[in-house]
Amino acid sequence: MELDKMDENDWKYHGEGNKSLVVSHVQLSRVLRLLKYPAEDSENPPQTVEQAFRQIQNIVDFSSNVMSSLLGDKFVHSGEVVKLPLEFVRQLSIKIQHQRPAWRCDKVMDIYSGCALCLPNLTSPSLHPQTHCPPLCVEIKPKCGFLPSPKHVSKDMKTKVCRYCMHQHYKVANGKWKRRSLYCPLDLFSGNRQRMQFAVRHLIEEPQNNFKVFKGGQCVYSSKEGGDDPPDVNVLLHHLRPYFQTGNNRINGHVTGKAVLNDFIQVLVNVLLSSGGGAGGQVTDRRGEGRSFCQASLLNKERIRHGSQGLPSDSVLFRILQTQMLDTLDIEGLYPLYRQVEQHLQDFPKDRTRLQIDGPYGETFLEKVQKFSTEDDSSVEFAAAKVHQYRIAMTAKDCSLMVALVPSAEEEDDDEDLSSQRRPLRPPAFSSSVSILDLDPKPFDSIPRQLRLDQKIVSCYLRTGGALP
Ligand code: ATP
Ligand code: ZN
Ligand code: MG
Ligand code: MG
Repeated sequence: MELDKMDENDWKYHGEGNKSLVVSHVQLSRVLRLLKYPAEDSENPPQTVEQAFRQIQNIVDFSSNVMSSLLGDKFVHSGEVVKLPLEFVRQLSIKIQHQRPAWRCDKVMDIYSGCALCLPNLTSPSLHPQTHCPPLCVEIKPKCGFLPSPKHVSKDMKTKVCRYCMHQHYKVANGKWKRRSLYCPLDLFSGNRQRMQFAVRHLIEEPQNNFKVFKGGQCVYSSKEGGDDPPDVNVLLHHLRPYFQTGNNRINGHVTGKAVLNDFIQVLVNVLLSSGGGAGGQVTDRRGEGRSFCQASLLNKERIRHGSQGLPSDSVLFRILQTQMLDTLDIEGLYPLYRQVEQHLQDFPKDRTRLQIDGPYGETFLEKVQKFSTEDDSSVEFAAAKVHQYRIAMTAKDCSLMVALVPSAEEEDDDEDLSSQRRPLRPPAFSSSVSILDLDPKPFDSIPRQLRLDQKIVSCYLRTGGALP
């Protein structure tokens, strides 16, 4: 990829989130992740080229120096900042515009800075390039997997029903989605196979923006936002079927749709429970049932025979959960510390740099946060460290994980198959790899908004949802 000879015809629309738009190369396993601005700002960009470059460099640094040490470098690909020719970016923006979903078009792609993040394409990994079946990739945005401690919250409900489940009521009440998803993150993070499979089943039923399936780098299953109907599971089955022909539940030699789906869910949960390399054992759940079971989850407690045995300590979900749990105070307990820092910065604006409020996220950043956050001496350093810690947790609550599956040939010697130890006898074998994406730092100034949103979600739930089954 030569940066001075970029051709928009080599790139195609891949996907987007709230903050960035992603295009993928038609041949190389590469993507470009570009910033987005509110459409109102499309005539004059809200930041200079230098600021855009700094923003993306901050993303790379935060990912490689902070998130990667917490989540494990085998899962994290931080990428690099690139400067693209402006003409290329403009042509690209025109080319992809009609493929963008309408509901995302309140924002426009940044065509002014020419800055972008270049990353490996995690939906077209080259695990076993010799196989003829294209890789199957599953993207999950798991969201927060634990309940806050009762010490810091003003509403008891927050210690019983998880944030995601409450937020679902709020989103439906506000018309963001037509139907509630019955997915509960606490089930996915439980480490209990049954609960995890239940969680994945509900992600498939109502994917919203928490679940996508890619085949050969192409998104083949996701929610059409604002769409009145849930996506057609038969479409997913059609794509999955060739990968799951060896299932047990055959009727007259035909593998039923139900069996295909069961096998798919089982394979996915097995990968999520696998250690991702290294020797990880089962760990007991130190959080206790109290903070790992959500009252809103439809999964009846009685049905779980063996309780929660917890996640293996080096599984990807365990690492994400541990990082999310750096939020020890909940937004309600954190907010006073945020106010303390904010007040201090009004009196001493120059301390914004010293306290690294907007980065830089160099190699020593995490060390400093960990050192200053251990002892509450009422200093602004302590308060800033707790705010940084909360922001790190926010990133972990908002990241996605990508599971890549490539069918492994039967006779192949599977030395490198990391999921093989836990592979059950029945479903077909896959080589797998797991990555974590979307590890941007959350801005300091977003904290007051977080508090307001939390209050709105909880009061909406208490008003409407809490009473409903
Ligand atoms: P959010 O609104 O969740 O914060 P975002 O705007 O920060 O999203 P990303 O989640 O990083 O953007 O990217 C948007 C989508 O593009 C992802 O959900 C994923 O489907 C795809 N994507 C991002 N990075 C990669 C990658 N390295 N390889 C393949 N696909 C990717
Ligand atoms: Zn829940
Ligand atoms: Mg995202
Ligand atoms: Mg993001």
